[in-house]
Amino acid sequence: MDSCRALSDAERRPYWLDSPDRPEPAPRLRGDVRADLAVVGGGFSGLWTALLAKERDPGRDVVLLEAGTVGWAASGRNGGFCTASLTHGSANGLARWPDEIATLERLGLANLDEIEQTVKRYGIDCSFERTGELQVATEPWQLDEMAAGADLARELGLRLDVLDRDQVRAEVDSPTYIGGHWERDACAMLDPARLAWGLRAACLAAGVRIHERTRVRTITSDLRLVTGNGTVTAAAAALGTGVFSPLLGRLRHFLVPVYDYALMTEPLTADQLAAVGWANRQGVGDMANQFHYYRLTADNRILWGGYDAVYYNGGLIKPEQDQRDATFGKLAEHFYQTFPQLGEVRFSHRWGGVIDTCSRFSAFYGRAHGGRLAYAAGYTGMGVGATRFGANVMLDLLDGEPTERTRLRMVREKPVPFPPEPLRSGVIQLTRWSLARADAAQGRRNLWLRTLDRLGLGFDS
Ligand SMILES: Cc1cc2nc3c(=O)[nH]c(=O)nc-3n(C[C@H](O)[C@H](O)[C@H](O)COP(=O)(O)OP(=O)(O)OC[C@H]3O[C@@H](n4cnc5c(N)ncnc54)[C@H](O)[C@@H]3O)c2cc1C
Repeated sequence: MDSCRALSDAERRPYWLDSPDRPEPAPRLRGDVRADLAVVGGGFSGLWTALLAKERDPGRDVVLLEAGTVGWAASGRNGGFCTASLTHGSANGLARWPDEIATLERLGLANLDEIEQTVKRYGIDCSFERTGELQVATEPWQLDEMAAGADLARELGLRLDVLDRDQVRAEVDSPTYIGGHWERDACAMLDPARLAWGLRAACLAAGVRIHERTRVRTITSDLRLVTGNGTVTAAAAALGTGVFSPLLGRLRHFLVPVYDYALMTEPLTADQLAAVGWANRQGVGDMANQFHYYRLTADNRILWGGYDAVYYNGGLIKPEQDQRDATFGKLAEHFYQTFPQLGEVRFSHRWGGVIDTCSRFSAFYGRAHGGRLAYAAGYTGMGVGATRFGANVMLDLLDGEPTERTRLRMVREKPVPFPPEPLRSGVIQLTRWSLARADAAQGRRNLWLRTLDRLGLGFDS
């Protein structure tokens, strides 16, 4: 189908958030209150921090302040790939922390196991399916990268099946596939908005006081969190504020807002689904620098996202940037090239969202205000699972006793900062252009990308 026609009825809002089950917002903060722990941000980062704080010490008085509504931002509009990796993939982790990668992989798998247990324990209805992830190669150069990835996975003891063209097409049938591998344990598919709302309900049941539509304007050095209609004076504070105007100036150097876009199809009919196979319902990602990610939903729609990772020069975050027709058109075209047998399927939703990208692609952590405030940010498009690990790191940092997590070099080190604007825009756009060229040139990386590789820097989503 022509992509214009296929998109003509697509709602311009995130599919997951477009649900009658969305909870009524909790009341705004009014007046001046005290708390043992104030959490800022009602995405996964803040929600996990508040819930884990209560699980560690049910007597702790916890307040969570959210500028919008819980899960409205990246946490409620993502692909729903809940990966075990804490390092934006094993290869990135190995390149940066070779001496720690085995520990990081073990901690990541344990974190995913604990997410699964939490979902069960609190009865969170978020369509959690631990199907694993299928990485597919669509160009010969990607097979070499895949072979290297398989060797690494074996060394780390991960469960990974290498699939040839026929085997990968027996899993999910696209004429564009030439090989693949299936990492079985290390990823679950879920409905991210329902996970956020379920964590919100679990927090409320545990006694966390949640205030939505309550933006924190400043945090003073003695930990007074100032909002429009009230203040919280806290013994400790945790920031799970993602990429939004940081309440700590130092974070500005490390984070850039990168927009990622996605489409959702209508539910597939039984015949349409049979034409693709996909009996094992894995999440799928291709191996290009500009990669696509896609998956089935509980009612057999296909979420289809990625490819363009857009940085708007100047780095401003604006609601109108959640929509980008040029990208939606490209994504629709790529969908039909990948699945020509689904030529009659139309799209029901199109949306975008902003990612907190840092130069090492995996989150960084720290403390401020005499060790009484902790932060975690920079998940770079892979935070659905890793935010829970980051929440534990923040609580460890606030407790002050070293733990296995806080001793990690990955936790102690910071990413290389981005240069200030306008140089920042120039560097990022040159990198994006170079990555697109590499995909068009059988993966060959130009001098600029090779230099960044040597410096351990890059741009990803
Ligand atoms: C389109 C898209 C697809 C993605 N796909 C995946 C995927 O498949 N798998 C994956 O692992 N990751 C994915 N990600 C990334 C993932 O969604 C994020 O890494 C994760 O949700 C980050 O959670 P967070 O809580 O840190 O940030 P957010 O969800 O952005 O939450 C931050 C919250 O803090 C609040 N806040 C900020 N400042 C203040 C303030 N001053 N006062 C009060 N509140 C404040 C904001 O309102 C917001 O609700 C995707 C992201 C996007 C946009």
